[in-house]
Amino acid sequence: MKVTINRWNAVSTWHWDHAQEELCGICRVAFEGTCPTCKYPGDDCPLIIGECKHAFHMHCLLKWLTTESSKGLCPMCRRKFKTATD
Ligand SMILES: [Zn+2]
Ligand SMILES: [Zn+2]
Ligand SMILES: [Zn+2]
Repeated sequence: MKVTINRWNAVSTWHWDHAQEELCGICRVAFEGTCPTCKYPGDDCPLIIGECKHAFHMHCLLKWLTTESSKGLCPMCRRKFKTATD
């Protein structure tokens, strides 16, 4: 019996959506990098994801939420920012 590799699967999963936010909506740096105030990516500069599914570097979001203009809203969709774990 011959083993055939199903290449269709490989092709369809390859086609992921690059429009999806891969950049922090605040500092516009990729999530695999750090926020502007951190040097090393990883646990020291975690990501935070809101109920609205927007993700940011935690430090960027905290800084944003301390500004008066934020009003506690998500900077992307202007909905009240709540983390998914709240
Ligand atoms: Zn950021
Ligand atoms: Zn950081
Ligand atoms: Zn949002």
